[in-house]
Amino acid sequence: MAHERCEQCGNPTPPWDTIHCGSGDGSYELLCTSCFNARIAESTGFTDFENVRLDAIRMIDCDGEAHQFHFQLRLLGDRIALDGFELRGELPAGYRFQQIGEADDDVFVLLGRLVEKIRRALSVRHIDFHERRIIDSTVRGRIEWDESQPGHLPLVVVDGKEVSWDDLGQMLMSMEGWHFRLEIADPSEEL
Ligand SMILES: [Zn+2]
Repeated sequence: MAHERCEQCGNPTPPWDTIHCGSGDGSYELLCTSCFNARIAESTGFTDFENVRLDAIRMIDCDGEAHQFHFQLRLLGDRIALDGFELRGELPAGYRFQQIGEADDDVFVLLGRLVEKIRRALSVRHIDFHERRIIDSTVRGRIEWDESQPGHLPLVVVDGKEVSWDDLGQMLMSMEGWHFRLEIADPSEEL
Protein backbone atom coordinates (compact mmCIF):
# COMPACT_ATOMS: atom_id res chain seq x y z
CA MET A 1 0.00 0.00 0.00
CA ALA A 2 1.33 3.44 -0.97
CA HIS A 3 2.50 5.84 1.66
CA GLU A 4 0.32 8.90 2.10
CA ARG A 5 1.58 12.40 2.65
CA CYS A 6 0.99 14.09 5.97
CA GLU A 7 -0.94 17.29 5.22
CA GLN A 8 1.10 19.15 7.83
CA CYS A 9 4.77 18.21 7.27
CA GLY A 10 4.40 16.63 3.82
CA ASN A 11 6.36 13.50 4.78
CA PRO A 12 5.29 10.25 3.11
CA THR A 13 3.95 8.12 5.97
CA PRO A 14 2.79 4.48 6.12
CA PRO A 15 -0.98 4.21 6.74
CA TRP A 16 -0.53 2.72 10.25
CA ASP A 17 1.39 5.85 11.30
CA THR A 18 -1.28 8.35 10.17
CA ILE A 19 -4.38 9.71 11.90
CA HIS A 20 -7.48 11.25 10.34
CA CYS A 21 -7.80 14.37 12.39
CA GLY A 22 -11.14 16.14 12.46
CA SER A 23 -11.18 19.91 12.67
CA GLY A 24 -13.91 22.17 14.02
CA ASP A 25 -15.44 22.82 10.60
CA GLY A 26 -16.19 19.13 10.00
CA SER A 27 -13.35 18.53 7.54
CA TYR A 28 -10.68 15.87 8.00
CA GLU A 29 -6.96 16.10 7.63
CA LEU A 30 -4.53 13.24 7.27
CA LEU A 31 -1.67 13.77 9.72
CA CYS A 32 1.36 11.71 10.64
CA THR A 33 1.37 10.67 14.31
CA SER A 34 3.98 13.23 15.37
CA CYS A 35 2.17 16.15 13.67
CA PHE A 36 -1.08 14.93 15.28
CA ASN A 37 0.58 14.89 18.72
CA ALA A 38 2.15 18.32 18.17
CA ARG A 39 -1.26 19.71 17.30
CA ILE A 40 -2.92 18.17 20.39
CA ALA A 41 -0.04 19.37 22.58
CA GLU A 42 -0.51 22.88 21.24
CA SER A 43 -4.28 22.92 21.78
CA THR A 44 -4.19 21.33 25.26
CA GLY A 45 -1.08 23.05 26.57
CA PHE A 46 0.88 19.81 27.20
CA THR A 47 3.86 21.32 25.45
CA ASP A 48 6.45 19.23 27.31
CA PHE A 49 4.93 16.05 25.90
CA GLU A 50 7.79 13.93 24.61
CA ASN A 51 7.03 12.87 21.06
CA VAL A 52 9.27 9.81 20.99
CA ARG A 53 9.50 7.37 18.11
CA LEU A 54 9.57 3.81 19.35
CA ASP A 55 11.36 1.17 17.29
CA ALA A 56 9.60 -2.06 16.41
CA ILE A 57 10.26 -5.01 18.73
CA ARG A 58 10.40 -8.68 17.78
CA MET A 59 8.88 -11.10 20.26
CA ILE A 60 8.56 -14.87 20.27
CA ASP A 61 5.32 -16.65 21.19
CA CYS A 62 4.97 -19.93 23.10
CA ASP A 63 5.15 -21.90 19.82
CA GLY A 64 8.45 -20.28 18.87
CA GLU A 65 6.85 -18.07 16.23
CA ALA A 66 8.21 -14.52 15.86
CA HIS A 67 5.96 -11.45 15.99
CA GLN A 68 7.08 -7.96 15.05
CA PHE A 69 5.34 -5.25 17.07
CA HIS A 70 5.13 -1.65 15.87
CA PHE A 71 4.19 1.16 18.20
CA GLN A 72 2.07 4.26 17.90
CA LEU A 73 2.00 6.83 20.67
CA ARG A 74 -0.92 9.27 20.63
CA LEU A 75 -1.56 12.23 22.87
CA LEU A 76 -5.29 12.31 23.65
CA GLY A 77 -5.98 15.39 25.74
CA ASP A 78 -4.56 14.71 29.21
CA ARG A 79 -3.94 11.03 28.49
CA ILE A 80 -1.68 9.09 26.16
CA ALA A 81 -2.46 5.89 24.33
CA LEU A 82 0.35 3.57 23.37
CA ASP A 83 -0.65 0.92 20.84
CA GLY A 84 1.49 -2.10 19.95
CA PHE A 85 0.42 -4.07 16.89
CA GLU A 86 1.56 -6.36 14.13
CA LEU A 87 1.29 -5.36 10.49
CA ARG A 88 0.16 -7.15 7.38
CA GLY A 89 1.41 -5.10 4.47
CA GLU A 90 1.22 -1.61 5.95
CA LEU A 91 -1.95 -2.10 7.98
CA PRO A 92 -2.39 -3.37 11.55
CA ALA A 93 -3.41 -7.04 11.68
CA GLY A 94 -2.92 -9.87 14.13
CA TYR A 95 -2.07 -9.13 17.73
CA ARG A 96 -2.89 -5.66 19.01
CA PHE A 97 -2.45 -4.24 22.51
CA GLN A 98 -2.95 -0.89 24.19
CA GLN A 99 -1.63 0.85 27.26
CA ILE A 100 -3.19 4.07 28.53
CA GLY A 101 -1.30 6.60 30.66
CA GLU A 102 -1.33 10.20 31.79
CA ALA A 103 0.12 12.83 29.44
CA ASP A 104 3.13 13.38 31.72
CA ASP A 105 3.91 9.68 32.26
CA ASP A 106 7.30 8.37 31.19
CA VAL A 107 6.74 6.79 27.78
CA PHE A 108 9.37 4.12 28.40
CA VAL A 109 7.64 3.02 31.61
CA LEU A 110 4.41 2.69 29.62
CA LEU A 111 6.28 0.79 26.91
CA GLY A 112 7.64 -1.57 29.57
CA ARG A 113 4.11 -2.27 30.83
CA LEU A 114 2.84 -2.80 27.29
CA VAL A 115 5.68 -5.21 26.48
CA GLU A 116 4.90 -7.18 29.65
CA LYS A 117 1.25 -7.33 28.58
CA ILE A 118 2.29 -8.58 25.13
CA ARG A 119 4.61 -11.15 26.70
CA ARG A 120 1.78 -12.51 28.89
CA ALA A 121 -0.53 -12.74 25.87
CA LEU A 122 2.07 -14.47 23.68
CA SER A 123 2.67 -17.09 26.37
CA VAL A 124 -0.88 -18.44 26.07
CA ARG A 125 -2.52 -20.27 23.20
CA HIS A 126 -6.30 -20.65 23.09
CA ILE A 127 -7.01 -22.40 19.81
CA ASP A 128 -5.40 -25.41 18.16
CA PHE A 129 -5.60 -24.22 14.56
CA HIS A 130 -4.64 -27.62 13.11
CA GLU A 131 -7.34 -29.52 14.94
CA ARG A 132 -9.64 -26.48 14.87
CA ARG A 133 -10.58 -26.76 18.50
CA ILE A 134 -10.44 -24.69 21.68
CA ILE A 135 -7.48 -25.94 23.71
CA ASP A 136 -8.73 -25.21 27.21
CA SER A 137 -12.02 -23.74 28.26
CA THR A 138 -11.08 -20.08 27.72
CA VAL A 139 -10.83 -18.03 24.53
CA ARG A 140 -9.51 -14.47 24.61
CA GLY A 141 -9.37 -12.27 21.57
CA ARG A 142 -10.48 -9.12 19.84
CA ILE A 143 -13.67 -8.30 18.00
CA GLU A 144 -13.10 -6.98 14.47
CA TRP A 145 -14.96 -6.10 11.31
CA ASP A 146 -15.43 -8.96 8.86
CA GLU A 147 -15.18 -7.70 5.25
CA SER A 148 -17.24 -10.65 4.04
CA GLN A 149 -20.04 -9.96 6.57
CA PRO A 150 -20.51 -6.20 6.26
CA GLY A 151 -21.62 -5.35 9.76
CA HIS A 152 -23.64 -8.54 10.33
CA LEU A 153 -21.14 -10.77 12.07
CA PRO A 154 -17.81 -10.08 13.75
CA LEU A 155 -14.45 -11.51 12.93
CA VAL A 156 -12.50 -12.39 16.02
CA VAL A 157 -8.72 -12.37 16.34
CA VAL A 158 -7.49 -15.10 18.68
CA ASP A 159 -3.80 -15.91 19.21
CA GLY A 160 -3.09 -13.19 16.65
CA LYS A 161 -5.04 -15.06 13.96
CA GLU A 162 -8.35 -14.26 12.35
CA VAL A 163 -11.22 -16.63 13.13
CA SER A 164 -14.58 -16.19 11.43
CA TRP A 165 -17.69 -16.16 13.60
CA ASP A 166 -18.78 -19.32 11.81
CA ASP A 167 -15.52 -21.13 12.59
CA LEU A 168 -15.71 -20.08 16.23
CA GLY A 169 -19.27 -21.42 16.33
CA GLN A 170 -18.13 -24.77 14.90
CA MET A 171 -15.41 -25.02 17.55
CA LEU A 172 -18.00 -24.36 20.26
CA MET A 173 -20.16 -27.22 19.01
CA SER A 174 -17.74 -29.77 20.44
CA MET A 175 -18.88 -28.43 23.83
CA GLU A 176 -22.59 -28.62 23.24
CA GLY A 177 -24.51 -28.51 26.52
CA TRP A 178 -21.73 -26.73 28.41
CA HIS A 179 -22.14 -23.29 29.97
CA PHE A 180 -20.19 -20.26 28.89
CA ARG A 181 -19.54 -16.68 29.95
CA LEU A 182 -18.95 -13.84 27.49
CA GLU A 183 -17.08 -10.81 28.84
CA ILE A 184 -16.21 -7.70 26.86
CA ALA A 185 -13.36 -5.39 27.83
CA ASP A 186 -11.87 -2.07 26.75
CA PRO A 187 -8.88 -2.42 24.32
CA SER A 188 -6.44 -1.43 27.08
CA GLU A 189 -7.82 -3.94 29.61
CA GLU A 190 -6.52 -7.44 30.10
CA LEU A 191 -8.98 -10.29 30.52
ZN1 LIG B 1 3.50 15.19 9.68
